Amino acid sequence: MGAPTVEFSRQAANVFLHLLTRCNLRCRHCYINPEQHGRKRLPLDRIESWLTVFASRSPGANLVLLGGEPTLHPDLPRVVRCARRLGFASITIDTNGYLFNDILDRVTSAEVNVFSFSLDGATAETNDRIRGKASYEACLNGIRRARAKRFHTSLIYTVSRANLGELPAMGPLLEELGVERFFIQVLGLRGKAAPADGDPDGLEVLQVSPAEWLERVPAAAEAIARRGVRVIYPKVFLNSDEKFECAGLVADNYFVFPNGRVYRCPLCEDYPVHSLEFQGDRLVERPRLNESDFFRLHIAEGCVMDALVQPGHIAGDAGGASEYRIACCLLKEEIPPH
Ligand code: SF4
Ligand code: SF4
Repeated sequence: MGAPTVEFSRQAANVFLHLLTRCNLRCRHCYINPEQHGRKRLPLDRIESWLTVFASRSPGANLVLLGGEPTLHPDLPRVVRCARRLGFASITIDTNGYLFNDILDRVTSAEVNVFSFSLDGATAETNDRIRGKASYEACLNGIRRARAKRFHTSLIYTVSRANLGELPAMGPLLEELGVERFFIQVLGLRGKAAPADGDPDGLEVLQVSPAEWLERVPAAAEAIARRGVRVIYPKVFLNSDEKFECAGLVADNYFVFPNGRVYRCPLCEDYPVHSLEFQGDRLVERPRLNESDFFRLHIAEGCVMDALVQPGHIAGDAGGASEYRIACCLLKEEIPPH
């Protein structure tokens, strides 16, 4: 399938700021890990000083505000306005759709570029089994309310064995809702909901195999783009003639947690290997070894962290480790609407 791969941006930085780790939902694949990320809600003055640090380190960065559920933070509108003042190029709020604290009435579409919603099924039955009872209705209502107030919207769908079958049905739903961008994510092994522990309700939220991914995800993405939605999905597998690059070396991304840890790679977030950390309001480099030492290693499997975190990821399913390499998890393919 010929979706163009989006190069890592060498120009624009991206700051993913987790304002808190608390959430009203308990999604089965949630990657938030309070042991590693803390349980704090960042106070406004600390958020403002951390944003100031990034605004001077990477001027014109894109900012993504997330949690936990970021709309549970009572100062979110003030955070948005502070980020605007500091010159961030774009501001996205990632939300599960509950939109607490009347957030849609307290910010404008001139201030927030995108509200990005999360849904993991085209039906309430599938989504609610993964994300919790009534979360489907809440998310759809949230999208409708945001669209009514003329906010731009996108939607994130984390593909697992539990919802791969409903991916094609997302096309009509996105079209009906007027969602402009659709991000397909691959289920990772991060966070407290790593699937190996089994599941009390017998629902297995498991990674799809490479064969399933390659057969079904690009085709579904293409069909959804034909409905006028921009579709972005991770590259995941590289052929032997495709170049491997680690975003940790060539891009400028920061994943910031309320306990002050700052990672350059999301696959590292379950481990205390962050390369930077806030000490008070100062961003300092951490002593080695840390994640930045992994980025420089070259291995046949591609991404070093993937090989460390989930060994056998490719060889187990795809008939031999030589068939594919694992791309950087931040490398995306993008299909424009058509
Ligand atoms: S995945 Fe998002 S919405 Fe779900 S529990 Fe985690 S933080 Fe909350
Ligand atoms: S996912 Fe792999 S390739 Fe991408 S930044 Fe992390 S270590 Fe590098």
